[in-house]
Amino acid sequence: REASQIPQRFLFYKPCMSEGMADRIIMEQELHKALANHEFYIEYQPQVNLKTGKIESLEALVRWRHPTRGFVPPDVFIPIAEESGLIIPLGKWILETACYQAKSWEAQGLPQMKVAVNLSLGQLFQQDLVQMVEGILQQTGLKPHHLQLEITESMTMNIDQMTQLLHELKALGIQIAVDDFGTGYSSLSYLKDFPIDCLKIDRAFVRNIQHDPNDEALVSMILSMAKHLRFKVVAEGIEEVAQLAFLIEGGCDYIQGYLFSKPLAAEQLTETFKELHSHAEEILDQFKYVE
Ligand code: C2E
Ligand code: MG
Ligand code: MG
Ligand code: MG
Repeated sequence: REASQIPQRFLFYKPCMSEGMADRIIMEQELHKALANHEFYIEYQPQVNLKTGKIESLEALVRWRHPTRGFVPPDVFIPIAEESGLIIPLGKWILETACYQAKSWEAQGLPQMKVAVNLSLGQLFQQDLVQMVEGILQQTGLKPHHLQLEITESMTMNIDQMTQLLHELKALGIQIAVDDFGTGYSSLSYLKDFPIDCLKIDRAFVRNIQHDPNDEALVSMILSMAKHLRFKVVAEGIEEVAQLAFLIEGGCDYIQGYLFSKPLAAEQLTETFKELHSHAEEILDQFKYVE
């Protein structure tokens, strides 16, 4: 028999499993050192307001530059940080750093921008989460309405507990966004209980929007539902003008994606801010006469 005819699972099974698990344990130990060793940094990705053409917010995305492995993606290390509990100090560091940075851009005379920070499940169960957020706002001097926290639908927490927690966070004056909207399995009923400001449409829905009528239908449905519920909508992962055209047509509020900018280190963002703005304007100018 040809090797290609052997069922996949036999080829996959033995070496990967044990090595993968050993690797995970090593990575967990390395993660603990990484925070003390300053191996983490944050990149910021612009969100462009489609009505004004301005960069009005930035999503903070954590990065890990490992001394020998090189760049390790957050999709790989965040789940490990979750399981090991490191997400608590790491999450605090991310929030502090992002708030300090947003405040410092304000001091440098950049236009007022919101910063959006991802929360992970472990942080929602952190007893002093609300006090921690409040403390960081005080310490950094960032105005509460310039901070947006992103949660996801797949964060499995009792719905009453979650509602209560989100109301406490909202009471600080911050904004709440639902990230990766539509990719979880939760029922829509939470949308009427949670104090939500914003829905983020996942890249999975917009990637093939020009070719897949089902994606088109789903995105239209999300946009119209959000409008009725008075949520703002951010579309994530926009890479092409054709995708943008569809979202403008549908009344989407904000766009985040490589079309406008990749996530950038803080200094890089400061240096190229003007160019980023004119780049966004140039792209959006094409649509001025279409409406
Ligand atoms: P997310 O919060 O949904 O972040 C959006 C992801 O889409 C980011 O990946 C971003 O770099 C990527 N992206 C944005 N525009 C485009 C585009 O046009 N094309 C493509 N192909 N990708 C685009 P990233 O930075 O690798 O983060 C992956 C996930 O890891 C995040 O998804 C989030 O769930 C998690 N994560 C990242 N940073 C943090 C953090 O600071 N805290 C927590 N708890 N989770 C984080
Ligand atoms: Mg996010
Ligand atoms: Mg997302
Ligand atoms: Mg995601």
